[in-house]
Amino acid sequence: MDNIERTFDICSGLHFPTVQEWKKSHPSGKAIAFFPVYAPVELIHAAGILPVGLSGAGDRLDIQHADARFGSFICSIVKTTMELGLTGRLDPFDGFLFSSICDSARNLCFVMKRNFPGMYVDFLHLPHNPGSPAAAPFLADEYRRLLAELERLGGHKVSDDALRTSIALYNRSRALIRELYKLRTVRPQQVPTWELYQLVRLGNYLPVEEHTAQLEAALAEFSSRSAKQRDSIRIVVEGSFCEQPPLPVIRLIEDAGCYIVDDDFVIGQSWFDSDVPTDGEPLLALANSYLDRSVYSSVRHDFRKPRWDGLVEKVRRSRADAVLFLIAKFCEPAYFDYVPYKEELEKAGIPHLQLEFEEKSFTFDRLRMEIETFVESLIFD
Ligand code: SF4
Repeated sequence: MDNIERTFDICSGLHFPTVQEWKKSHPSGKAIAFFPVYAPVELIHAAGILPVGLSGAGDRLDIQHADARFGSFICSIVKTTMELGLTGRLDPFDGFLFSSICDSARNLCFVMKRNFPGMYVDFLHLPHNPGSPAAAPFLADEYRRLLAELERLGGHKVSDDALRTSIALYNRSRALIRELYKLRTVRPQQVPTWELYQLVRLGNYLPVEEHTAQLEAALAEFSSRSAKQRDSIRIVVEGSFCEQPPLPVIRLIEDAGCYIVDDDFVIGQSWFDSDVPTDGEPLLALANSYLDRSVYSSVRHDFRKPRWDGLVEKVRRSRADAVLFLIAKFCEPAYFDYVPYKEELEKAGIPHLQLEFEEKSFTFDRLRMEIETFVESLIFD
């Protein structure tokens, strides 16, 4: 992949250089930072605002102020996001958007509101019962309300055609990510996950047009790469949908003898499993897509399609040998789901291992040993 160093700098930096560059070339432009997992980026883009996905601060920031705002048993990304704000590193942004993914994210939204009283801070309510006939109109109304706020911030009305253009742009980006994921499933030796992960995560920071061009170039490059197949087991990584593991953890999983053939890293970048329709009423199309085209996730409840069935299907589709649960410390949704996931995998005879990480970890010897032991137990079984 070209520019891997630049990609790493953008993904791991604390000062959002791409936002600062974009603002220089768009002097009256606004930027909104959204907290993972999902945000309707199409609405933000159509309003002429740059949507930027927050991903915490990794191991590059000492928490000196945020601890005083939260209890002890809160995941790291919530605290580092607050710390980024309290230390002025989120100053390039003109607003923050949160959604109802979990109690911690909900609380962060309102703590941010209190600490940044002059800032636009919004909370998107997502439907909890997708099977209800009221869910689609409710969500379309919620998008309408949000769009009105974005129009106010962006300074102009957003037409349906502008929304359709933005939907089409993000459809293209998601379709490319799906292609890259498919290629990795078939030929994982050509698409190392430590590279693919950074490429996809880059979409959090770049304008979609620029990111799409990078995805296209990467697809061509990965497709034509020659790489020898290693003697590795094929695994699905599950549980890293919000707080992201340190890049060395992904590398050590691969170095320890695993091909990651599917994962839920930075899942918001590939939230829909097929294109959002660009005909009809765009807000309703987005709402219906949230209900019927979203990938399964521990932060999206849909009892019409149990998530545990989704995981077993993912393992079968990707011809994986095992599942590695890689869960952020104190991530309630991931730990709640671990129990039913584990039960379903055991019923299906699929081996699994559970490991915990924190974005700010920097020693990984214990993780390496556990993964190597797991790999050996499968190879020599
Ligand atoms: S890491 Fe888990 S608990 Fe923390 S904000 Fe994200 S979903 Fe919520």
